[in-house]
Amino acid sequence: MVFFRFYCILPLGFFVVIWRIPGRAWLSLCIGLAKQVRNMPEGPSIVILKDLVQPFKGEKIVAASGNAKIDMSLLVDQKVTAFRSWGKHFLICLPRTTLRVHFLMFGSYSINEQTKPNPRLRLHLKFSKGDLYFYTCSIKILEGKPDEVYDWSGDVLSDDWDAAAARKKLKAIPETLVADALLDQQIFAGVGNIIKNEVLYRIGVHPESKVGKLPPRKLTQLIKEARNYSFDFLKWKKAFELKKHWLAHTKKTCPRCNIPLIKVAHLGKTQRRAFYCGNCQKLYV
Ligand SMILES: [Zn+2]
Repeated sequence: MVFFRFYCILPLGFFVVIWRIPGRAWLSLCIGLAKQVRNMPEGPSIVILKDLVQPFKGEKIVAASGNAKIDMSLLVDQKVTAFRSWGKHFLICLPRTTLRVHFLMFGSYSINEQTKPNPRLRLHLKFSKGDLYFYTCSIKILEGKPDEVYDWSGDVLSDDWDAAAARKKLKAIPETLVADALLDQQIFAGVGNIIKNEVLYRIGVHPESKVGKLPPRKLTQLIKEARNYSFDFLKWKKAFELKKHWLAHTKKTCPRCNIPLIKVAHLGKTQRRAFYCGNCQKLYV
């Protein structure tokens, strides 16, 4: 497949900006869409990344560099067999090894154009048809095969998601706050702080409720909405309208009660921001 670029000239005041645009439609799309991930991406953002890099599947890595503490020579000449995601982990599967990318709090990526300086560049994978760049993130070689390492039934966006398994795990931690339980990646892989706040608002449960005190019906709703909202997040994020749909996260007023929402800067063991309504989100303790 031939990779080509073209240049367009944009007059900008007295200046002329030469802007290099990749010729292939998907590549220009990638640049537009995938500049970076901000503030600890949640599972749906990793699914979006996985979709964006699909054109590199089956392609050979011609060079690998960056300051990640891995043996870059292991990657060269290997073909990408698959891109996968498990919760907030992004996996680059190669015939002999798998790379795990975790974006932590400030990680980001770009496709085809390097957008951050070299000290922040953890990994650069060069392909004949383009480039992938990962910044300020954790890059590790996975020990073992992904299917041995990961429990896909715990990934809220996976086809293998198992609600009954999640219920069993929750039953084992009755004293845990629901806010902390939702962020537990062994139970709800992919759920982050936005999803947590929105799910608890949707189901009318106070974040400091104890898992073991939730009535069975509420427990069912919690598990169901963790997955439902994650798919809504994915759909809205793809349409660039995620924030528009937030009902509680970063909001000041409860849309149901029209009274101020409560904001807690560090809630529970996970110490993450919580936004909730003291009136319509019931406390079960
Ligand atoms: Zn309310």
